[in-house]
Amino acid sequence: MKGFLLKAHAKKASAKARERSAVSRAQLDGQSRQTTETKTSAFPTGKINQTERDRSVLTDSSFDPREPRKEETVSDDKPPEKMSFFSMPQPADADGTSAWLVGNKTAMAQVIDSPGYPSRTPKPPRCDMTVFRQTIDQQKWGIFATGLIKSGELLFAERPLLVAPRSVPKHFRALPCPQYDDGRVMPLVLETYERMLKLSLDRLPADRQKTFMELPNARTELAGYPILGTFFTNNFGIENLKDNTTYDGYAGVCEMGSRFRHSCRPNIMQRFNLASFSFQFYAARDVEANEELFYAFCGVEGSAASRKARLAPYGIACKCSSCLNATPESDLLRTNFQSEIERLTEQTTECWKTGNKIRPEVLGNMLKLEQDMIKEGLDGISEFTAFLMVIGLTLKSMGQSSVAETYLTRCKGVVGIIDGSASA
Ligand SMILES: [Zn+2]
Repeated sequence: MKGFLLKAHAKKASAKARERSAVSRAQLDGQSRQTTETKTSAFPTGKINQTERDRSVLTDSSFDPREPRKEETVSDDKPPEKMSFFSMPQPADADGTSAWLVGNKTAMAQVIDSPGYPSRTPKPPRCDMTVFRQTIDQQKWGIFATGLIKSGELLFAERPLLVAPRSVPKHFRALPCPQYDDGRVMPLVLETYERMLKLSLDRLPADRQKTFMELPNARTELAGYPILGTFFTNNFGIENLKDNTTYDGYAGVCEMGSRFRHSCRPNIMQRFNLASFSFQFYAARDVEANEELFYAFCGVEGSAASRKARLAPYGIACKCSSCLNATPESDLLRTNFQSEIERLTEQTTECWKTGNKIRPEVLGNMLKLEQDMIKEGLDGISEFTAFLMVIGLTLKSMGQSSVAETYLTRCKGVVGIIDGSASA
């Protein structure tokens, strides 16, 4: 138990550092969009992950696709291999086909060598756990729970329509365009990437190609590149699929999963399973019947104003209750909850190590933060699950076994999803 806790804690701390850099980059990106409308200062990616990788190289003003920089070249200083187009899985099955634009053989081997590949997509405990329908005010469409869903339950799994590098692939660094100035290099990169994605999509059955092109495209800065715009509006990062030809690993667009709407009060999480080549969407907390299911497209930390800036590329003006009713106090909670969890966790683990008694006020502060996070809609994020476990273990060490058990039971369903052991 404590092993997991420490692992989760370390994972969280590093994710936090990455999130911080993602926030500052997003802010910079937002600012540059306002001031220089025609220049794309950073290549877009897609919906944020809990574990964003640093992609500062792409926001670096010295970025020049013509000159591969030494530290960014692939291993053995060899240029990247040609990109390849695949249909997944092979052989095909009845769970749908994915088009995959692959950077090199490493990524392909990661999938093919994963235990159980090729397997069918996992099925949820009950069929039709969700429904895609209009919101009550009939203004939007969203995905709703059809009945009570327990924390950690699989909502559905699906093969993505398209999987491709999440950001500009390193292959494009060697584009032969020495006569172009910087203002003409980016369009060439975009045109090339658009063409690559088109060739990938061409491998899909016609109905799946049509489904992809009918998904929303909010990327106005990518006008003229319809596939790229749709890809970057709808993709989810695939954390466990990476190779050295990509800066941000891979991302996939789903027929149904990409229709989850954004909220800063998310109640689902997703994981990508290599063996079945599918995204799996889970309830991140208990969900009531008819409750809408939401994914956070951006990091949920920080003030309402900073979240607004991060959501601007999606054309989303978030109307969740946390955004509508934001106060200086709620902004402060969202800015500080990660460091506060870290501080309280350190205090208790220190006591476990030294054998000292945990002071009642430490537990009091934990329970207060737990309640504040629930009220603020932060109970559907992985940090909250790890925090529940810390509280449970703290109570246990203080001899309050039965209350401790309720905490440990509450986070049980999600723990396996966070650390990957529940992945089918
Ligand atoms: Zn919001």
